Amino acid sequence: MSTQKKALVCGAGGFIGGYLVKRLKEEGYFVCGVDIKHHEYRDTDADEFIQGDLREQNFCRKITSDIQFDELYQLAADMGGAGYIFTGEHDAVVMHNSATINLNIVEEAKRTSIKKIFYSSSACIYPERIQKDANNPGLKETDAYPAGPDSEYGWEKLFSERLYMSYARNYGMEIHIARFHNIFGPYGTWTGGREKAPAAMCRKVAATLNGGEIEIWGDGEQTRTFLYIDECLEGVRHLMESTTAGPVNIGSNELISINNLANMAMTIAGKKLTFKHIPGPLGVRGRSSDNTYIQQVLGWKPTAKLIDGMKVTYNWIAEQVTKQNLSIK
Ligand code: NAD
Repeated sequence: MSTQKKALVCGAGGFIGGYLVKRLKEEGYFVCGVDIKHHEYRDTDADEFIQGDLREQNFCRKITSDIQFDELYQLAADMGGAGYIFTGEHDAVVMHNSATINLNIVEEAKRTSIKKIFYSSSACIYPERIQKDANNPGLKETDAYPAGPDSEYGWEKLFSERLYMSYARNYGMEIHIARFHNIFGPYGTWTGGREKAPAAMCRKVAATLNGGEIEIWGDGEQTRTFLYIDECLEGVRHLMESTTAGPVNIGSNELISINNLANMAMTIAGKKLTFKHIPGPLGVRGRSSDNTYIQQVLGWKPTAKLIDGMKVTYNWIAEQVTKQNLSIK
């Protein structure tokens, strides 16, 4: 009998899912990827890629019935950067779509006795009230309650964390939950309204001639931390090989303002641009990851420097800008 482990990756046509499929293949897994769409920027490395809608229970039933999976990685979500999540316009669809996906998947994972399940939660679950200072000291996993996320996206993630935890408690399932903090890298959404700050800054800088001007939402002094995709995957695999259910932060603690993120992209590009601060969806004032718990339970935490990931990401986005011949202002 084959000892090759079989993994199902939901959200395999997305940014993190695409990388995760590649990583699992490199580790020797048989990988089946599922998504409502194919990856926009790369071919899949999956042994099988099934296109379909995880909001449909029958579809979820079919994919889990055909193959007995050892591990399931649940990354599918209706998701985007601040321009999608924080405007309020997509609240109902975000909650309905992502909650339906999670309700379907966890039920099918139980039904087919998948041994290990990974769920990708988010730093967006943390209460708004402790993220009002740009100099955020780092969010600890225990800060999640009393709950008070600033977006419906965050509330759905918190609901789904509890969903997976309740299945683990009542049905003896092995679950592992990570709270990702702003993951970035090449092959991620970089235009169209769902992109996040690192990609948006790289695109704006790449598409603007030296001496020009770029727009930044708010005063640009809001802060975040950004984690390069390789370290995100490292965290996920460490977590899945551990006995820790989590939730565990997978994030960097290198805090940077959005103005300085733009400055970093300009330095990489060798350009000097001015900022035009305009109104826009901002999210919380300051957010960082406290990595005490991950270090304690996994004996590992992210350490890579933001600048290194930004260089690789900038170069990839600059290539896309050139390919699409975006107007250089
Ligand atoms: P992504 O949008 O690139 O990937 C999500 C994928 O889910 C997409 O490919 C999308 O097509 C798929 N999907 C959505 N609805 C679906 C449906 N009904 N049926 C099938 N597939 C569907 O996002 P990502 O950045 O790769 O994020 C992966 C996961 O990590 C998400 O759950 C996200 O909420 C979580 N997360 C990401 C970040 C980050 O910074 N990227 C931060 C926190 C949490």
